[in-house]
Amino acid sequence: MPRPVRFPVNEIFDSLQGEGPRCGIRARFVRFQFCNLTCSWCDTKESWLAKSGAWNWVEETDLIDRLRGARDLILTGGEPLLQPLDRLALPGARIHVETNGTIIPTRPLEAVLRDGTPLGRPALREELIRDWTWVVSPKLSNSGQPGSPEALAWWASRPWPFFKFIAAGPTDLEEIAETTRQFRLPGERVWVGLEGRTRDSQCRPALVEAIISNGWNYSPRLHVILWGAEKGR
Ligand code: SF4
Repeated sequence: MPRPVRFPVNEIFDSLQGEGPRCGIRARFVRFQFCNLTCSWCDTKESWLAKSGAWNWVEETDLIDRLRGARDLILTGGEPLLQPLDRLALPGARIHVETNGTIIPTRPLEAVLRDGTPLGRPALREELIRDWTWVVSPKLSNSGQPGSPEALAWWASRPWPFFKFIAAGPTDLEEIAETTRQFRLPGERVWVGLEGRTRDSQCRPALVEAIISNGWNYSPRLHVILWGAEKGR
């Protein structure tokens, strides 16, 4: 019997999935604390480090109690793959994970974050996690982050993840095209949304037409359209 673990939880809330291939579904969200990146435009900076915001360690059994009964669970962050997510595979629940694509889930992880916080988890079992909905969001150069070609190649080599990019303008579309070519990401598994946290930022028909003409899917960002930058949405 594996020992119980505890999870760093920033917030738990019920809402709609705002982006990507499951956009619009009702779900319970768990936002984990801690991220291995520092994207310049990150809208959840409070989830980066130990002192970044209000969060708590939650015992595995307590977290499972709070998730029980939800049909769809969305595990996000921060970077959720810093955590032993397979402990949360509740029977009957559909698990969705939003990851930045810089971590290979089937390898054990030992990490020390910038503030000295140590994190670790065993390898996740591929035979379990391949049945989940994975949305991998590689960061473009506008994030100021280096990315991880090795990890992205791992994700690209599997038939089950989706890929989601956020574009601020035509230059980003060129970079997405280069990335999808380099890693052979098929268009039907690529979603592109628009950067911004205001309704106006999401209403750019010319950019959406360019996304579609590249052979990708367009992802609305429903939470931004409905609630702007409100937290817990
Ligand atoms: S990977 Fe996500 S949570 Fe982490 S810094 Fe980038 S946008 Fe923020």
